[in-house]
Amino acid sequence: MNNPLLEQYKPKSFCADLMEIKGNGLQLGLYMSLILGFKPLLDDWIRKNKIEAFKKACRGYGVHVRESVIFRNVHKSKVPDSVIDKDRLTTTSAYGLPLETDTDEEVHVFLSKDKNILKRAMWYPVIINNRVIFAPRADHLKYGYVLGYPDCCIRFFRKYNDWVRYSHLYETYRQTKTQPSFLCNPLLKDTIFSYIYHMPCRYDCPATIKLAGKLRHEIFKKEPEYVRKMDGYLKKTFLVFYERKFYALDDAVFKNDVLHYQQASFVSHDATRNEYGADLDKADALKLHGRQLTLLRGGNVLKDIMVPLNTFAPEHPFLITFQ
Ligand SMILES: [Zn+2]
Repeated sequence: MNNPLLEQYKPKSFCADLMEIKGNGLQLGLYMSLILGFKPLLDDWIRKNKIEAFKKACRGYGVHVRESVIFRNVHKSKVPDSVIDKDRLTTTSAYGLPLETDTDEEVHVFLSKDKNILKRAMWYPVIINNRVIFAPRADHLKYGYVLGYPDCCIRFFRKYNDWVRYSHLYETYRQTKTQPSFLCNPLLKDTIFSYIYHMPCRYDCPATIKLAGKLRHEIFKKEPEYVRKMDGYLKKTFLVFYERKFYALDDAVFKNDVLHYQQASFVSHDATRNEYGADLDKADALKLHGRQLTLLRGGNVLKDIMVPLNTFAPEHPFLITFQ
């Protein structure tokens, strides 16, 4: 399945030097948001031999860089049991090495235009001297305020980011009162084609529309082509199961209660969640009734799927078109 949503975009000039030094185009929109004054804080990983050039380029944009530690990534299964608090690590974890270490590995950096915000930056847990080190008095939820997210969305996230009880994306859908706005589309936030990086409280959240709209306007002045691409990707119909499993449907048109489409693209980087991609490829239309997903081709039923609820990360399938 060819998936343009996971492609990169090469800026003509704005941020082009930073992406060049980084050697990847990851987080392009976030860099623009930071430099344009919308995003207070950003973090990234930069190869140690590029760090001086990177810092210099950042200075050119008025961005301060705080280096935290060098990351040596390790799978949790390879971490010895003697490491204190090993149980609290997630699947991917890292050893934190001193910045002086002679290595070509990546340095974890925080970026901000405000030096005071850099002081509030919260690092990820890393293993240092046989112990997992967490950020001091970490309140991950309050961190949303440092990251510049709207209050209404932070309050909503605090309640619904509970992977045992809720599908956040579905709860947001239920709260939506009017036409879903592409400016409130969070589904592409792990690609570079997103104006938002938080989970909105509604797909028509006024605070999010205002924030993302201003950011879009500013990026447009610098990189109009990037904005045109981004708008096109965000204004699509999506078949959503939960946060790790959803599909973008190209040229989707409803005829009665049947949705006809040209191509379905699985968006997440985690291909193991792509359960329905092959079936969606064979079909050219679908029908969703509660948990029952019917796939059709040329008007004939190809397959009926009963979407299971699951005990962890519950799935509540829904279709949504952003405009
Ligand atoms: Zn909101």
